[in-house]
Amino acid sequence: MFAALLLAVAGTAVPQDLELKNATVHPGTAAAWTGPIVVRDGRIEPPGTTARAGATVIDLASAFILPGLQDAHGHLLGLGSALAQVDLVGTKSYDEVIARTAAAAAKLPKYQWVIGRGWDQNDWADKSMPHHAELSAEVPDHPVWLVRVDGHAGLLNLRGLRLSGVLAGTEAPSGGKILFDESGEPTGVLVDAAMAAVPTPDASPEQIRERLLAAQAQCLQHGLTCVHDAGVSKDVLEELRLLHLSKQWHLRTYVMLAAGERELIKKGPWHSRDGLITVRAVKGYSDGALGSRGAALLEPYSDDPGNRGLVGMPKGAIQELAQRCADAGMQLCVHAIGDKGNRTVLDAFAAVKVEGGLAARRFRIEHAQVIAPDDFARFQTLGVLPSMQPTHLTSDMPWAPDRLGPERVQHAYAWRSFHALDVIVPFGSDFPVESVDPRKGLFAAVTTRAERTGPPAGYRPDQKLSRQDAIRGFTQHAAWAMFAEKDLGTIEPGKIADFTVFDRNLLTCADDDLLTAKVLLTVVGGVVVYDGRPK
Ligand SMILES: [Zn+2]
Repeated sequence: MFAALLLAVAGTAVPQDLELKNATVHPGTAAAWTGPIVVRDGRIEPPGTTARAGATVIDLASAFILPGLQDAHGHLLGLGSALAQVDLVGTKSYDEVIARTAAAAAKLPKYQWVIGRGWDQNDWADKSMPHHAELSAEVPDHPVWLVRVDGHAGLLNLRGLRLSGVLAGTEAPSGGKILFDESGEPTGVLVDAAMAAVPTPDASPEQIRERLLAAQAQCLQHGLTCVHDAGVSKDVLEELRLLHLSKQWHLRTYVMLAAGERELIKKGPWHSRDGLITVRAVKGYSDGALGSRGAALLEPYSDDPGNRGLVGMPKGAIQELAQRCADAGMQLCVHAIGDKGNRTVLDAFAAVKVEGGLAARRFRIEHAQVIAPDDFARFQTLGVLPSMQPTHLTSDMPWAPDRLGPERVQHAYAWRSFHALDVIVPFGSDFPVESVDPRKGLFAAVTTRAERTGPPAGYRPDQKLSRQDAIRGFTQHAAWAMFAEKDLGTIEPGKIADFTVFDRNLLTCADDDLLTAKVLLTVVGGVVVYDGRPK
């Protein structure tokens, strides 16, 4: 009865127009945009349209408006969970990691898990992988699980090792690694597939919703209008849909299902009636990460001869998954970092039979970090999209040359080499591995410079992009990567009104000012979902 009444009221009301005036518009197209932007029923009206009476009019006073920024590879639950965990990002030593963990443990009941994330031994004076002994001595009564910054390795304390059943002589599963010390005892470090042994408690449905909402708030506040969520389970999708049904979800979300969700994959694409949530992709893994030497390389690691990294899914398994996705009308997005990992995925994709050709499925390789010289052009011929994260370059460059050597590193983080081949390169951050803040990604893409350290001319001057191309990665190319180029990615009549408004012109400001630009408005579907204007 009540619902019917609401519907009747909604049916009679004419939705208000939105008018954004006096803005500097970067439409992302060849045509310039002059005059106000008028939004009706969530879509952009042609220039020159007059807003209807009763419209919401916002005077942007020369602020800079661009197509809504997207993050083409992030982890919403991971971000929300990271906010609930011990933050170890930026720790300068193992001692600091232990101190932060001990402080967090002191606030939790004994025997409850302490979970942390974000340490990176490459940032420490002693760059070797940590051993649990010192941590276990400081935090003896809580099981502890500290995930490395890249999410591809973690450190347990003694209590955590016991609960995980990892002992001297425990064999690692394929695609994983357990590190042992000289006496044959586990050091506490588990890599990739071996991490599955850790029995951390699952989040409750309520916790999942809380964490998703916390992540959404971060995204909207940083000007993101859309996120491609890389690897979502059925349970998490369920909570996302509940949030959407209860009108608490406002962030456009493109869902990549976890590869294990066979039933959902078979069902094929799905989207909410308003188009805010789309499920059309699947996330797979072909290898690990470079930092933990889990990325699969064609030749051994330059700083670890004899080690070529780990293979997550072999070619046959990727091909089988890819064929199932292709048959169900789903897009497959496979994580690949090493040149061997990337080649394996390209080979598997090339063997898939798709009506209308593989390119129609817009299969993606997530990260596409180290590419053998001959393989760049294969992305173009196969129509495979390298989905890249500019901040990975600036985070990894202090140690990547050690792992790869001077020759191979020239073919890593090479987004401009893809641009030169007219390959679509969607950009993202891989949050919470990197910051959710797209300004950092834009800065990294145009400067290849770390914010405070590293060479002033940038780590990779040859890969610097123009401002337009960097923005394109976070808008148009990201939209293409989710099959939404007709609705999103540029400011054009008829498209959905997703915008990000900054206080300064991101095309003309100084490089460093990209990092301090303020988000004034985030608009999704013609609705202001974040308002950061000074009050
Ligand atoms: Zn990721």
